[in-house]
Amino acid sequence: MTSIPQDKIIDGKAFAAKVREGVAADVTKLKASHGLTPGLAVVIVGEDPASQVYVRNKVKQTAEVGMLSVHHELPADTTQEALVAKVRELNADPAIHGILVQLPLPKHIDEAAVIETIVPEKDVDGFHVVNSGLLATGGKGMVPCTPLGCLMMLKDRLGDLSGKKAIVVGRSNIVGKPMAQLLLDANCTVTIAHSRTANLADEVRAADIVVAAVGRPEMVKGDWIKEGATVIDVGINRIDAPELGEGKSRLVGDVEFAAAADRASAITPVPGGVGPMTIACLLKNTVTAACRQNGIDPESL
Ligand code: NDP
Repeated sequence: MTSIPQDKIIDGKAFAAKVREGVAADVTKLKASHGLTPGLAVVIVGEDPASQVYVRNKVKQTAEVGMLSVHHELPADTTQEALVAKVRELNADPAIHGILVQLPLPKHIDEAAVIETIVPEKDVDGFHVVNSGLLATGGKGMVPCTPLGCLMMLKDRLGDLSGKKAIVVGRSNIVGKPMAQLLLDANCTVTIAHSRTANLADEVRAADIVVAAVGRPEMVKGDWIKEGATVIDVGINRIDAPELGEGKSRLVGDVEFAAAADRASAITPVPGGVGPMTIACLLKNTVTAACRQNGIDPESL
């Protein structure tokens, strides 16, 4: 395999650092001009190790951009009522502009019911049905962080997306569907593929933009990618890597990276692509939420 030209790689880590710098500058302005410090509360229930890593990163990066960062760790046996009560307390707290309940929640808790308890204007994950509805109808809600990050990377690389053929592989509520909606809003012609799609390879071959959000290691093959297409790989899959030593593992995306990179004009790596952008967009959403809750136009910052 020939080495991949660096200019094909969409560096999500560097882009996320730029987004965080912009957020930090906005926070400084909000403090100076309005005496407003945006606040994000993260609630985690139980001790899922992957969730704990995500939450630690979110809490650290929130503080680094100058925002108020509040962190509630609740035990795994927390009742639904106690969790809902905590969310209601945060809904009523004027210092908190964004609330994030880390998913997945323990099995005895109804995730949807908890998400619906967050007031939509503080739902910085953009998972509340009001926010999904606003996204679907062209309103101004909170946009889910992962698709928002993907769209920002696409626009940064391609400029105007109008008229491009895009395929989103995956139709989850948190990635696939909002991603398709954002691409539609950007005037792409969008195909949404899923586990029942016939001739997936041919569908992908027709696309100028491929967003893979499946959760299956390297499922989208390199030779499915149209020459010159732009590929955004949302998947994060840990696979065994005996070549690195006994018991070792590594992360791969949903796309067969090296083979896809041969044909694509641009592609996100895993890790270092979409992942870092997700947290950066969470911080951006919190600033947007703080502005809206205080009658400030976030675009005016
Ligand atoms: P879900 O499991 O909720 O959805 C997966 C989707 O893929 C479903 O719509 C499913 O179709 C579809 N699918 C499954 N198998 C196939 C197949 N063989 N062919 C075509 N489509 C298929 O996953 P998420 O959307 O939550 O996450 C997707 C991936 O993105 C995961 O790897 C996850 O870890 C990663 N992720 C990364 C984030 C980041 O920050 N980088 C954030 C969020 C997720 P169907 O509906 O028919 O079952």
